[in-house]
Order: sequence, then C-alpha cells, then structure tokens
Amino acid sequence: MEQSLLTLLNAKQLDVDLKDVALKVLAGERISEENALLLYEKAELGFLGILANYIREQKHGDTTYFNKNFHIEPTNICIYSCKFCSYVRKIGEEGAWEYSIDEILKIVESYKNTGVSEVHIVGGVHPKRDLDYYGNMMQQIKTIIPDIHIKAFTAVELDYMIRKSRLSLKDGLLKLKEYGLDSLPGGGAEIFHPDIRKQVCDEKASSDLWLTIHETAHSVGIPSNATMLYGHIENYFHRVHHLSELRKLQDKTGGFNTFIPLKYRKENNTLSHVGELTAIEVLRNYAISRIFLDNFPHLKAYWPSIGKEIAQLSLSFGVDDIDGTIDDSTKIYSMAGAEDKNPKMTTDDLVRLVKDVKRKPVERDTLYNIINTF
Ligand code: SF4
Repeated sequence: MEQSLLTLLNAKQLDVDLKDVALKVLAGERISEENALLLYEKAELGFLGILANYIREQKHGDTTYFNKNFHIEPTNICIYSCKFCSYVRKIGEEGAWEYSIDEILKIVESYKNTGVSEVHIVGGVHPKRDLDYYGNMMQQIKTIIPDIHIKAFTAVELDYMIRKSRLSLKDGLLKLKEYGLDSLPGGGAEIFHPDIRKQVCDEKASSDLWLTIHETAHSVGIPSNATMLYGHIENYFHRVHHLSELRKLQDKTGGFNTFIPLKYRKENNTLSHVGELTAIEVLRNYAISRIFLDNFPHLKAYWPSIGKEIAQLSLSFGVDDIDGTIDDSTKIYSMAGAEDKNPKMTTDDLVRLVKDVKRKPVERDTLYNIINTF
C-alpha cells in the first residue's frame, strides 16, 4: 500500500496542494481543517482511496470487524420534529408505536442463547418516559441475557430523560450506568454547525450539549460512538467543522470508539427535495473522515443506511467495521427509503461479504475485543 502512495506522489500531474496532504499522510502527520476542505473540494475518489486505505491498513491491516447484534426501538413517538426524520410520529398518529416493557423483554427473550453480544437501543423522545423507566428496562434486559452489552440512547434522549429526572448530567449518566448502560451510540449529532442545525433540528439538544453529554459520559467511564448525518443541506465546510469538533473532543477524552457517517435518505421526510448523494460522494466522505480523524480508532459503514454493496466497497476507502447482523430489528433507515426494507445478515453473510473483497472478517464485541476469527 505504501507503494501505491509513493507512485501517487510521483505522478507528475498531481496537484501540488494535494501532494502536500499526501506527504502528511505518508509521514503520519495530522491534516488541518484547510487540508480536509481541500480534499472535499478537489480530490478525486482514487486519490482519496489510496490515502484512506493506507491509514486503514496501518491501523488494522485487512481486519474488518462486525458484531452479532440486534436493535430495540422502544418508540417512534417524539416530542421533536427534525426535518430529516422519517421515523417520528406523534401520540395517536397513524404508524406510531410504543412498546411496553413486557414487549421489549419478549424481544430480548427471543435472542437468548443466540450468541448476540450487543443490543442497540434508540428511539424517539417520548414525553412520558424518564430515566427510571429506561433504567428499569435495562435492568430487566440483563436478567434475561446477563452478559449482553447495552449500547443505548442518543444524547438527545439522554438530555430529555436526565432533565425530566432532575439530575445533573453526571449524576444521570452514573445512575444509568448503575442500571446497566454500557456505552452510548453516536446518534443525534446530525451536523454540529449552528447554521445547519438551526434549519434541520432547532428544537432538540444543541451541538454543544451533544458534545458535553459525550464528554461527561467519557469522564464517568462510559465510552461512545459518534455520527454525522450528512448529504442534505450542509456543505463541505460544515462537514469539516463537524469532524473537527469530534477530533478535538477525542483529543481531550479518548472516549470515542468509532465514527459512523450516516447518509441522509430522502423518503418520507420534509427535506426530500434536496435529493441524495451518489455512491461516489459517500465513498469520498468515508475516505476523508478516515484521513482527518487520526485519533479515532475505527470507521464504521452502517450497512442498513447505504446497502451491502457500498458497505463492501467502503472497505477500500478507510472503513474497517461494517456493524452487525441487525436481524431486521430497526426501521429507521427502511422508513427513510433505504434499499433494504428488512435489514438482516447472518454471520455467514457478513463473513462472505468481507472475504469477497479479500479482507479478514473478525467478530468483535462492542468494545472491539475479538470474539471470533474466520
Ligand atoms: S431524529 Fe430523533 S429527535 Fe429528531 S424527530 Fe426523529 S426521533 Fe425525534
């Protein structure tokens, strides 16, 4: 891979500014925000792929992680109305759901002895559900599958449930940890820049609050992931700003495991008119994320959001993780127009997907401890 990078650097027609960025990557130096903007504006896919893959292979070789997981979406009733959201319903509206604790436990029961290592729990911000409600839910989940890792609640859900319980952020997170919360997913980040956030999700937790919640979680020993919902009304500058905020926080805490860019999908929401990005833009975005976020150990392609084939391609553009089996347990992306209406892959499917592009599949737990190699 180093050879491809050297060949690239010696190409006569290579833009001098892009060459500077490539030299930084080869030297293992951090690139600046200006460099990242330059990559978004000028760099073609092949160039980005060589740089991002060089970094990916330095960090992980051919190893490509996945896990055995399922989702629980307790409700799609939400007090907010984000413009990009295809999932949200109001109480009593057609298509709204709110599972009882018993219904949730029945779902968990069905995964007993199946080898799943993680349950991912996110949903709408239900006006009547508080921290103790969800705490009790987690406690009971762990009585059914004691060693399951609970990765739950976006910063937006946490903000509401902790405020409703009249606790400080730190005390709220500590209480949730006691109840069984093991880590946070990365949702609710959307685009941090206030010019965009104001237009697409003005009512909910601000960017500063999202970052503070994750910082506080890290400080009490709860690791987390980070996301960026991109490809709607933001431009490259806003994406670089978002990545930079994440990189700064990661420098401070080291508590993020993985970065997950989430492509905006246009069905059934009020931003549909802006359309969707092409596969090439999606791959460019993975590559630039990998190059810029030098302090994030992992870059994940969440396959239900982009489809299996682009997820497979992304493994040559900096991605080292393709999420999990999912088992048709999430509706968020299928309601937004993703190709896969019933997202589900077996371990064999995931192993084949990775091996087909000559990478090495590794089953991991949420914290990237190795469970199985193939
Ligand atoms: S994105 Fe989340 S917070 Fe926003 S409306 Fe949808 S469910 Fe609610």
